[in-house]
Amino acid sequence: MTAIRIAVIGGGLGGCTLANGLLKHPHIEFDVFEGSSAFKEQGLAVGLATNAQSALKKIGSDVHQSLEAAGGVATASTRIIMELLKPVPKHQLHVDKKLERIEQGAELLTLHFADGSTAQYHAVVGSDGIHSTVRKTVLADHPDAIEPFFTGFWDVRTAVPIEVAKDAKIVDPANPSETGWVGDGGFILHQFINNGELVGCIAAAAADESYDGTQWRNPVTKEKLAKALGDRGEFGESMIKILLDQPEPFAFSQYESAKAPTYSKGPVCLMGDAAHAMTPWQGSGAGTSIEDAMTLEFLLGKVTSPSQIPAAFRAYDEIRRPRTQKVVESSREVGAAFCGKDREMGVDVQKLSAGLQRKWDHIWSLDMDQHLADTSAAFERFKDKA
Ligand SMILES: Cc1cc2nc3c(=O)[nH]c(=O)nc-3n(C[C@H](O)[C@H](O)[C@H](O)COP(=O)(O)OP(=O)(O)OC[C@H]3O[C@@H](n4cnc5c(N)ncnc54)[C@H](O)[C@@H]3O)c2cc1C
Repeated sequence: MTAIRIAVIGGGLGGCTLANGLLKHPHIEFDVFEGSSAFKEQGLAVGLATNAQSALKKIGSDVHQSLEAAGGVATASTRIIMELLKPVPKHQLHVDKKLERIEQGAELLTLHFADGSTAQYHAVVGSDGIHSTVRKTVLADHPDAIEPFFTGFWDVRTAVPIEVAKDAKIVDPANPSETGWVGDGGFILHQFINNGELVGCIAAAAADESYDGTQWRNPVTKEKLAKALGDRGEFGESMIKILLDQPEPFAFSQYESAKAPTYSKGPVCLMGDAAHAMTPWQGSGAGTSIEDAMTLEFLLGKVTSPSQIPAAFRAYDEIRRPRTQKVVESSREVGAAFCGKDREMGVDVQKLSAGLQRKWDHIWSLDMDQHLADTSAAFERFKDKA
């Protein structure tokens, strides 16, 4: 079988999961190009729900074991990446390789990097995050869909050792449990990371007129946090103190990808945040990236010649785009509800409870076998048409 050369652009969770999965397919020769100086994740931690765990199992048992080795389902993200990359030969992993543009040739794509070097591949997978360069190629005919937009919410995050959280009384020492507090305009959450070694603390709020949503992040003060979160008594005071007790406390603007009309163009496709960056409210950015990686790895395993890649990427687009864009929308809706901004539910506890309790079903309950069967059928259809 002809060797098929694939470039994976971006070494975040999505790109690294795909790299791990592609090791199963000897006919795929791949390289991962990371623009920064190391393979690492932006986020504090990722909680991987049942859908993400099922997708990891489909990719291969080693990956699932990697997750356990990295500390369980809510894990410092960079640790997961290190586990995923362990089996990938070092010569296939390239750092300080920022893609600048893709040039389409008759048979090969030429990648131009910021350091002046070039490389040629049959196909490119853009897992280069919310400010994706690959997206500019895929959506060249849809310029309005290239840039992400501010959703009107911001958040402040940190992580502290469990003992610090207990001393500050934000975690009940007798009965430690992860909790979210819904409020009128603001939301507070804490979650356990690395099997409970750390407590991730997050405060989020709807932006008021003083917040600059054109900036990726803005300085945050005690007064701003207190105003956004309202009176939460001693607990709120402790949480604010913890959130501000970091070298550079910032409020991060929550952005979302514009709704893309396609995730692929010929032999180039998008995955993860490059395709569908979403707000963090349903904790599904990482999980949907892993599902993307599972689907792409499955399809690329079926491709027997470079000429079949556009059909594989069309199948990927047909199956993954509706699924992921629905998650983007529901995540935004959950955020509004958590911050007391849903018009119907407001801060009515019973309405919130009834309205929110089924909101995760469509994310968690994806039948991976059926999803891959649908993907396979779509690939056969597009392959026949080609
Ligand atoms: C602060 C923060 C907190 C988060 N918290 C959570 C959470 O709790 N739960 C959750 O599920 N998700 C969370 N997410 C989202 C989650 O991290 C992502 O949705 C998910 O990991 C998608 O990863 P990705 O690989 O698609 O993109 P990214 O992780 O963004 O990786 C993209 C990679 O591409 C590289 N890159 C960019 N441009 C280029 C280029 N031109 N050339 C080469 N390389 C390039 C970047 O350096 C980066 O390493 C969070 C994100 C952030 C920013």
